[in-house]
Amino acid sequence: MQQSSDSESRKLLRRLRDALAEESEGQERLDHITSIIADSMVTEVCSIYLFRDAETLELCATEGLKPEAVHQTRLRLGEGLVGRVARTGKYINAADAPSMRGFRYMPETGEEAYSSLLGVPIQRLGEKLGVLVVQSKEAREYTEDEIYALEVVAMVLAEMTELGAFVGEGAALSARHQHPVLFRGTAGQEGTAEGHVWLHEPRVVVTNPIAEDPEREKARLTAAIEDLRVSVDDMMNGAGMTADKDQREVLETYRMFARSQGWMRRMCEDIDRGLSAEAAVEKEQSNARTRLQSAPDVYIRERMHDLDDLSRRLLRLLTGQGTETGAEMPPDPILVARSIGPGDLLDYGRSLKGIILEQGSVGSHAAVVARALAIPLVIHAENITTEALNGDHVLVDGENGVVHLRPEDNIVNAFRDKIAMQAKAQERYRDLRGLPAETLCGARVTLTMNAGLIADLPSLDGSGAEGVGLFRTELQFLANRSMPRRGELARLYGRVMDAAHGKPVVFRTLDIGSDKILPYMKRPEEPNPALGWRAIRVGLDRKGVMRMQLQALIRAAANRPLWVMFPFIVQLDEFRCARAMVDDEIERERVLGHDLPTEVRVGAMVETPSMAFCPRAFYEEADFVSIGGNDLKMFFFAADRENERVRRRYDTLNVSFLNLLSMIIDRCAETGTPVSFCGEDAGRPLEALCFAAIGLRSLSMRPASIGPVKHLLRRVDLEEARATIDEARRGDVQSVREAMNQWLTDSVSRG
Ligand code: PEP
Ligand code: MG
Repeated sequence: MQQSSDSESRKLLRRLRDALAEESEGQERLDHITSIIADSMVTEVCSIYLFRDAETLELCATEGLKPEAVHQTRLRLGEGLVGRVARTGKYINAADAPSMRGFRYMPETGEEAYSSLLGVPIQRLGEKLGVLVVQSKEAREYTEDEIYALEVVAMVLAEMTELGAFVGEGAALSARHQHPVLFRGTAGQEGTAEGHVWLHEPRVVVTNPIAEDPEREKARLTAAIEDLRVSVDDMMNGAGMTADKDQREVLETYRMFARSQGWMRRMCEDIDRGLSAEAAVEKEQSNARTRLQSAPDVYIRERMHDLDDLSRRLLRLLTGQGTETGAEMPPDPILVARSIGPGDLLDYGRSLKGIILEQGSVGSHAAVVARALAIPLVIHAENITTEALNGDHVLVDGENGVVHLRPEDNIVNAFRDKIAMQAKAQERYRDLRGLPAETLCGARVTLTMNAGLIADLPSLDGSGAEGVGLFRTELQFLANRSMPRRGELARLYGRVMDAAHGKPVVFRTLDIGSDKILPYMKRPEEPNPALGWRAIRVGLDRKGVMRMQLQALIRAAANRPLWVMFPFIVQLDEFRCARAMVDDEIERERVLGHDLPTEVRVGAMVETPSMAFCPRAFYEEADFVSIGGNDLKMFFFAADRENERVRRRYDTLNVSFLNLLSMIIDRCAETGTPVSFCGEDAGRPLEALCFAAIGLRSLSMRPASIGPVKHLLRRVDLEEARATIDEARRGDVQSVREAMNQWLTDSVSRG
């Protein structure tokens, strides 16, 4: 029985292949295919529905339904039985379709004559392409064998759709990957860019979904699976010892799939039915995806991505695609990836004009690196890796989280106008480079920049920054595959100081934990990492790494001043212990006879509300403090900075938050402790103005923000701004934003 259904299936696929090989237009091909399927399966109706856009299915060809319904009948995703198959990715087998819940009657098709319906999804590598349907008058359920046969055919159709076999005059389907597509994602890093798609993982194209010789296909598959197993074992051996729990889980899942007999058996069955090894891999991936997608358990759903990855690896092994080296990046490359690690991103470096990811969060490593490199980044651009092709024209709007793939001319023109306007504004800001950020009332605000890479330093001169107010040292640790060595770090820090040409650079010691996880350092599983073992807590509990870093900093600063700042100080003794470590290391260097820094200033970041209320001794003992507004806001408002749902929910200019900042500023004033603000908000002109108005005289921000902030500060009177804030504070408003905007409009129009 199995034997005969296999040969039936192969016969059908052979007929399909011959039909596909004929010189004909796309529509003609589709029509021919529906009649072959209906004939082979001895069923009165066969119809093919394909996606017109992400939400709409269109009847593109039919044998048995009324021909005039072709290209007229449309269904929304989820609508009717066909729409449901498309949405769920699961087949529907109904003996009496019209009586099924959700059945939608479409009079123009004449389908009322048919009772039974079998619909299977047409999908490829997780991408939904359409639905293949057979119907017959007789009220009967289709057999398992028939379902399987139709799924195999659907797989072939998916490949052919992808290859553009149904494109042409009469517009069965317009060509794929050619239309403009708009993606609304999330802003990861501000900035705009125009360029061409560079896929981090190239698409695998399968040109041979049907194969004649099942034994040969099985041998190819077995060999590829063997290679895959070896490479997974290598990964396990390479990373298994140091990888964290999540990474190990992924590798274990890879291993489990790679050794799964069931997976192999199902793919061999597909091959017996006439599919090529490649098509069999894709078919089983789509099936497993559907199963995993609807799993109630998040952990199981997560495994779906692991299977996707593994299937792609297997396809690359089978086709040899994506393993060849030397493919050329297009001009102005814009990286498109599902996700990417910080090391890979740093390898691309500044050659990238923009980055678009399907996954990730604003606080992910990739975002940290993109921010450090000042490359516009959009995350959560769903399905862009399946839609985009290498070299496609693309526009990235990192401000609004929008991506235009293959944009139309009017969009390109508007976008270019926007870029030109920004460039003009930058030119204006460049003219201010050598001028101080001095307000109309004569107050001087020091504007410094945030950095994290040696490559950031040229921006010091370009932006007119007066120094580096925050040098985040974690990138060198995150990007490395193993713990960096002291000598290596000392050289790097030395080069950073050299490049600053005597301007101060405030080095923040390693701020890991929470979202920043070192791949080579074991860490405990934590229920809430943002409130867990992070930053200075790690440094004080595992002194080796912090000591090594402090030694590197002290050596790099031989015969010049050193600024060191500790992150996430929450109470006095943490600062005291950290400071004592600096003193110890200086003493050690002295005993060793090394040259010492000319002076050492030790500061702390204020990132939790507790520091506004801490003992006065902290402010007396700290040489300076810097307000880390990103974390401070998160803890003050109890709103996760990485959670899209809440991260913008509370306004920085909320009166309560300004009151907290005022408290900190006042406490610093009492003890004469220099204070600055280095969270992202310092780079937003209105926020920067309010901070200056309530007494902050030092702000550290992205280099690109220095121009706009200075431009605004030079045009305002801080005393007037302060009066406006105070008046709003005395009222019952929640935020001073509206009052400040109003005042700004009035005062600028007056001025
Ligand atoms: C902050 O928390 O505001 C800050 C500057 O540190 P990071 O963003 O690196 O946590
Ligand atoms: Mg912080």
